[in-house]
Amino acid sequence: MSSAYDFHCHSTASDGALSPAGVVRRAASLGVRQLALTDHDTLAGIAEAEASACEVGITLIPGVEISVTWEGKCLHVLGLNVNPKCELLWAGLAQLQQVRLERARQIAAQLEKHRILGVWEAVQAMAGDGMITRTHFARLLVMRGHAASVSEVFEHFLVRGKPGYVATQWAELQEALAWIRAANGVAVLAHPLRYLLTASQLRRLLSAFQSLGGQGIEVVCGTSTSESIETLADYARRYRLLGSVGSDFHDPNSAWAELGKLAPLPSGIVPVWEAFRPVT
Ligand code: AMP
Ligand code: MN
Ligand code: MN
Ligand code: MN
Repeated sequence: MSSAYDFHCHSTASDGALSPAGVVRRAASLGVRQLALTDHDTLAGIAEAEASACEVGITLIPGVEISVTWEGKCLHVLGLNVNPKCELLWAGLAQLQQVRLERARQIAAQLEKHRILGVWEAVQAMAGDGMITRTHFARLLVMRGHAASVSEVFEHFLVRGKPGYVATQWAELQEALAWIRAANGVAVLAHPLRYLLTASQLRRLLSAFQSLGGQGIEVVCGTSTSESIETLADYARRYRLLGSVGSDFHDPNSAWAELGKLAPLPSGIVPVWEAFRPVT
């Protein structure tokens, strides 16, 4: 189960463990020929990834994973094959980077109230120049022995109703799609089954997404099952959406997902890469 295409992964520009060049080299060594780097709310890793892709002879698709608030839920919209110099996209992402920073300060302050000290300095040091994400808080709390795993930290500290949860207003769906369109990119709804939407909510979302210019959904991801792939392929057909494949790789030491380790798209699904136009 290995794919020449992988259109969703993360580097140290957000919550990945490898540098942008490190992600590209790993992808190439695993047989990926076209890779989209899609860090959370930033394009900061793209230039390094592009240079590295050129060296190892694979194609780097400039991408980003944009945080969106829709009906009170956080969704992730991938901008694939975006022009990484688009000013409107940069300006939109700059707003989200401020939101992220402010949220991270609040998470740190709330955890400090729970007598978990020095969190702000520690996550800043971990993230370096990259985005501060909840993954950084989770890794820190595991290192400090507050939980056995990153997913346990999410469960006990970082989700709604828990001490480190901060309600956050991300981009509007319409805004995120407009930024991607301005950057000549293709908008893809990431991991549609991970938002725990009811079937009717998901139908409403896909209908809104499509009518606002969204073009694809991630049909195959690193944690897909054959059932989830079929379910998503049905939605793609019904809403005339392209199908994307993306591992959502973060870390070579986590069992979560590996670069390029992806099932093929079911027949009859139009692959997202057919919509990629030369980036200008
Ligand atoms: P943020 O965008 O800062 O809210 O962080 C979201 C990121 O946290 C996701 O992209 C995942 O990488 C990670 N994440 C979310 N939920 C979990 C979980 N239950 N276990 C492990 N990682 C998670
Ligand atoms: Mn992530
Ligand atoms: Mn995501
Ligand atoms: Mn992701």
